[in-house]
Amino acid sequence: MRNVVLLGPPGAGKGTIAVRVAEALGLLHLSTGEVLRDEVARGTELGKLAQAFMGRGELVPDDVVLAMVRDRVRDQPGVLLDGFPRTLAQAEGLAGFLRVDAVVDLVVTKDEVVRRLGNRRVCSACGAVYNLVTQRPRVEGKCDRCGGALVQRPDDAPEVVARRYEVYERDSRPLVDYYARQGLLRSVDGARPPDRVAADVVALLRS
Ligand code: AMP
Repeated sequence: MRNVVLLGPPGAGKGTIAVRVAEALGLLHLSTGEVLRDEVARGTELGKLAQAFMGRGELVPDDVVLAMVRDRVRDQPGVLLDGFPRTLAQAEGLAGFLRVDAVVDLVVTKDEVVRRLGNRRVCSACGAVYNLVTQRPRVEGKCDRCGGALVQRPDDAPEVVARRYEVYERDSRPLVDYYARQGLLRSVDGARPPDRVAADVVALLRS
C-alpha cells in the first residue's frame, strides 16, 4: 500500500491514528494542519496568510495547500495524508501528481467530535495530544513526555469548533462519495480507543 488518504471530521482522531499507522507501514505522515501550525509558529509569509483562515475555522485556499503538499510528497515511496484533501478541488489537484491507492474514512458522530475537541489539550513544546477525559496527563497541565505546558489549540474553542464542523460538512464530506465512486473507500469506526482503531486501519491496509 503506497499512498493513503485519511478522511474524517475534525476530532475524529486522524492525527493520533495517522502517527501509528504511518509507523507500522513505513509511510511518511503528512498532516497539512501540522505543517500550517508550524508555519504560523515560525511567522513565515505562508504562516501569516494561513493564520487568519485557521483562527476562524475556515480552510486555507486550495492552491496554497496543494503547492505545499506537492513539494513534500515528491520522491516519497509512500505517504499517509492526514487532513488533506479537504475539498473536491484539492482531491482533483492531488490526482494530477499522486496516485491514491486507498482511502480510510474515520467515522465519528458530531456529538463525539464536539466532546473530544472541547477536552483536547496539546503540548506547547512537543505537540503530544491529550484528552482531559480519556487520556489525562500524569501531572495536571504538564506533558508526560517532555514536561511542556499543555494548552488548548485556539481553533478548539467552542465557536471555532462549530464552524470547523460546518466547513467539514459542506466542503469535505463530499470526498467520501468521491472516493467511494472510485472504489477506494474503506470506513472504520473511529469512536473506539486509538489502539483498536489504528490496529483495524493497519490490518485493512495490509489486506
Ligand atoms: P487540522 O489540524 O487538520 O484540524 O487543521 C487545522 C486547520 O488548518 C484547519 O481548520 C484549516 O484551517 C487548516 N487546514 C489544514 N489542512 C487543510 C487543508 N487540506 N485545506 C485547507 N485548510 C487546511
